[in-house]
Amino acid sequence: MRLKARSGSRRKEELPANAGPVRCCIGCGARRVQEELTRLVVGPEGGVVVDRRRRLPGRGAYLCGVGCLAAAVKRKAFGRAFRGRAGPVDPSVLGQALESGPVR
Ligand SMILES: [Zn+2]
Repeated sequence: MRLKARSGSRRKEELPANAGPVRCCIGCGARRVQEELTRLVVGPEGGVVVDRRRRLPGRGAYLCGVGCLAAAVKRKAFGRAFRGRAGPVDPSVLGQALESGPVR
């Protein structure tokens, strides 16, 4: 009788259960768990809107918060993140939306 050694059945690297998908902030480039970032999408009008519930369809971009908004605008990160599909970003409007706090 011979026991077959089960070697080589390496699984995919398991991530900790509490860590969600990791995204990059388009302002400062920090990598964070998606939940810590604010998701932005291009709305139907072509403007960038805050997607607090992370439910809106389409390509998303992520920001740590309002502090990274100016950096993202300066770096023209929105154009890159949305592949040129985003309209002009109004930092004051977007900043207000970001500052209004997370919706739970
Ligand atoms: Zn950031």
